[in-house]
Amino acid sequence: MTLVENGNLWADIRSPAMRKTRRGLFLDRDGTLIELVDYLADPGKVTLLTDTVSEVRRANSAGIAVVIVTNQSGIGRGLYQWADFEAVQARVIELLLEAGAKIDAVYACPHPPPDAGGPLVSAYRKPAPGMLMRASRDLGLDLATSRIIGDSVSDLAAGKAAGIPVGILAGTGHSERDATAVKMLADEEFEVNFF
Ligand SMILES: [Mg+2]
Repeated sequence: MTLVENGNLWADIRSPAMRKTRRGLFLDRDGTLIELVDYLADPGKVTLLTDTVSEVRRANSAGIAVVIVTNQSGIGRGLYQWADFEAVQARVIELLLEAGAKIDAVYACPHPPPDAGGPLVSAYRKPAPGMLMRASRDLGLDLATSRIIGDSVSDLAAGKAAGIPVGILAGTGHSERDATAVKMLADEEFEVNFF
């Protein structure tokens, strides 16, 4: 696990890049893979969401790389530190292993939005596609045959911006709040599905 890109990105690449390009399943973390807890910094509050975990297991069996891409603005806002994030992340991985599910890489962006002190332009904070593009490079993933699951419009918008053709709204977390906005992302290049 390490900070890269001058501290603008945290990356945990858990599987080596394949020689052949591989399909990817991109996942938001908070509200999608685990229950939504605002500014989560306590490993004791990690609870897996079973529908997404089932998708992870299916992807594992199919040889599809599973990549978590998570905005962690609480770090940029000074609410918690990378060490807290890493402790939570270790718990997520531990619970997933117990559930028979494996993650191939994790990317986290610490930037808050500009109105909360973040950079005017962030390449990595979703809805920007930077974390997905970086994963594609690091793991040899074919974005054009990949999917993304999220609970917020920014997750699916990041997928669309990266050239991923299918987005799935998880039904948990912020899904209800963002359902209308998510439907508006759908067009001939981007299919929107719902759990
Ligand atoms: Mg989320």
